[in-house]
Amino acid sequence: MTRTDPITRAVQRNLCTGCGACAGAFPKAIRMVDDPVHGRRPVVAASAEGRAAAEQAVSLCAGTGADFTAHAGDDGFGPVLGAWSAHAADAEIRHRGSSGGAVTALALFALEQGLVGGVAHIAARAEDPRLNEAVISHDRAGLMRGAGSRYAQASPAEALGAVAAGTAAVAFIGKPCDVASVHKAKTSDPSLSAKLPLSIAIFCAGAPNLVATDRLLDRLGVPKDATVLDLRYRGNGWPGLMQARYRDADGIEQDSPGIPYCTGWGKILQSERRWRCRICTDHTGAFADISVGDPWHTPPEGNTDAGRSLVVARSAAGLRLVKAAIAAGVLVAETQPVDVIAKAQPNLVAAQGAVWGRRLAMRGFGMVVPADRGLPLMQAWLVLPLRAKISSVAGTARRIWRQRLWRAVVIGGAR
Ligand SMILES: Cc1cc2nc3c(=O)[nH]c(=O)nc-3n(C[C@H](O)[C@H](O)[C@H](O)COP(=O)(O)OP(=O)(O)OC[C@H]3O[C@@H](n4cnc5c(N)ncnc54)[C@H](O)[C@@H]3O)c2cc1C
Ligand code: SF4
Ligand code: SF4
Repeated sequence: MTRTDPITRAVQRNLCTGCGACAGAFPKAIRMVDDPVHGRRPVVAASAEGRAAAEQAVSLCAGTGADFTAHAGDDGFGPVLGAWSAHAADAEIRHRGSSGGAVTALALFALEQGLVGGVAHIAARAEDPRLNEAVISHDRAGLMRGAGSRYAQASPAEALGAVAAGTAAVAFIGKPCDVASVHKAKTSDPSLSAKLPLSIAIFCAGAPNLVATDRLLDRLGVPKDATVLDLRYRGNGWPGLMQARYRDADGIEQDSPGIPYCTGWGKILQSERRWRCRICTDHTGAFADISVGDPWHTPPEGNTDAGRSLVVARSAAGLRLVKAAIAAGVLVAETQPVDVIAKAQPNLVAAQGAVWGRRLAMRGFGMVVPADRGLPLMQAWLVLPLRAKISSVAGTARRIWRQRLWRAVVIGGAR
């Protein structure tokens, strides 16, 4: 019997984050499919070429583990060279953006300054906006396709193949796990490193699956026989409403009612985060040049408020770009203390704290955990309240047993 290839093994063991780097680097042998339950995941061709590609691709897979030694920062939340509460000066970008439009404004600034010739990011698929695709944008209109968070399965690192094949320098935007795989790919290939001079990570508490998206559409009252034309999870205010546009069976275009972000995330989407997200050790993009999230420590007063983003410079290049964007009037910014991440994101601090206990429970069931290095995971767990400590181990053991999480994940594929 032949041994399972390492990419399929990562998927089977629930280690895959769905970043898309393996398929991006080896598109002829590995393709991403949208599994409604397990997320967007790679499927390796059942051939000698497939196995050979998977053997190579695993070296850039951060789902199986990443080395944070030079990227842990003082508190395990990554290096912080500067932090700001900021928003795009451009009113349309600020309004359309998920929080303050800082990601889109910074990416556009990098394009306009000639630092990069393209920006790799995700956007909703035109023919089915429940799903996302990796794209490379070259102008404001292209970037605006991505403005606003998509709380759904997406694989931005699939763009790696196009970046490697092209000649232009490209900025990369993705979740922390996407950026971590791109960082690994850059580390193993100096020519790719030169082509990817800038990475921007969005903070991330976990990506829900397609089942959750369909549940959201039900809650928004979109009929089953309608054609979804647009689906927004955030933006158009801070945090913004979740809302769909669709064509009904009579061919009439309608807007669904909007529901507040906190209802959509708290009551519908977050319970469908993938298991890999529950054992994620990097919710804030430690490997990025710049990380951007919500400054929840100064929360919005309503859904129509003009938004603000929490911008964190992680590297010298990131610091230079943010400072230049502020000096050029592209970002309107207020300096924040360097320990702001923990203040702004208590939920992510708690999530990171629970990881050591959750992984302990997994080991108890003989499950494989990501081979992450260089993070103070046990220390983060030790400072949790007793109840949270117990729940991270016993609650996880219960969940593993109930969901039979030790069984191999098999990808069906919606399309
Ligand atoms: C699944 C998910 C969970 C999140 N959890 C948190 C959290 O716990 N705390 C927090 O502070 N912030 C979280 N965010 C990030 C937050 O919603 C904003 O993206 C961030 O504040 C940046 O806002 P902005 O207005 O500056 O970005 P914008 O200017 O709106 O740009 C957002 C960029 O993110 C990219 N993007 C959107 N969705 C995805 C996706 N699914 N995968 C990869 N790239 C994507 C877009 O292509 C776009 O370029 C989450 C985002 C997602 C998608
Ligand atoms: S985490 Fe990324 S690189 Fe690793 S198997 Fe999944 S999609 Fe491929
Ligand atoms: S929680 Fe972690 S693993 Fe899950 S999507 Fe976000 S960054 Fe990736």
